[in-house]
Amino acid sequence: MSTLDLPAPYPWPEGKTSAFCFTMDVDAHSPWMWNNRHEVPQLLSHLEQRNFGPRVGIRRIAAILKDLGVKGSFYVPGAVAEAHPWMLPALIEAGHEVGLHGYFHELVAQVSDEEFSRVLDSSLEIFRRQTGETPKGFRSPAWEMTPHMLAEVKRHGFYDSSLMGLDTPHTVDGVVEVPVNWGTDDAIFFKFLGGGDPAPRSPAEILGMWSEEFEASHRFGSLFMLTVHDWISGRGARPVMLESLLEKVLAKGDVWVATVAEVAAHHAAHAMERDQITSHIPETLLEHPAWTRT
Ligand SMILES: [Zn+2]
Repeated sequence: MSTLDLPAPYPWPEGKTSAFCFTMDVDAHSPWMWNNRHEVPQLLSHLEQRNFGPRVGIRRIAAILKDLGVKGSFYVPGAVAEAHPWMLPALIEAGHEVGLHGYFHELVAQVSDEEFSRVLDSSLEIFRRQTGETPKGFRSPAWEMTPHMLAEVKRHGFYDSSLMGLDTPHTVDGVVEVPVNWGTDDAIFFKFLGGGDPAPRSPAEILGMWSEEFEASHRFGSLFMLTVHDWISGRGARPVMLESLLEKVLAKGDVWVATVAEVAAHHAAHAMERDQITSHIPETLLEHPAWTRT
């Protein structure tokens, strides 16, 4: 791109102007396990708050999706599948997609390349054992990525949904990327674990914000990637707010409501030549000639 002209609109399926994905990162207790991996505290409050997700939250949201006929993509850490062996089969039975999300919700910056590859294999193994199927996609815990992780995702033939360099599908290092968006993630507005966290925002306020985001994604022909968490958005008035948002999306006939795997497959079949990005991490500015010039 060498001008300020807008690129050609993204080629969504015939008759569709923009797209919408409903996704849930089913973190449950797994980030707690990762944060306390060296020494487990004898404390219950955060664990119980998170266990609400698999017990109640995911079911309340799944019931709303069923009523509205919406299929979502659920990214489940291996440890959550292990603790709740009913979850992956039940999601597939309901017609949803299940995808990988680490094993212990391990954070990229805190694992070596070798450790990442090892736990990716472990989470793939538990998915295959519990579902008899190989998942199609990967979403990184906390949405951080490295060139090594992209290479591993490519080696397995998965799509990725962790980065936000564009707001339409594209490729990064040859991997189909179905981009996320922090602005349409529930955690930044609602996550509250006590002491010192800012108070959660009102669902009505966030419904207003996300409705504006939805109208903008429709106008610009982009992808609205909604990301919620079982233990956060499954509680209180938030599932009702999600239902209102979904009703707005469904009321527009020309929005493609699809799973992330469906969007990735569409991109691979119809738009692979478009927006091929090569990952690049710049050298430190201390090596830059404007800095080193004497
Ligand atoms: Zn997560």
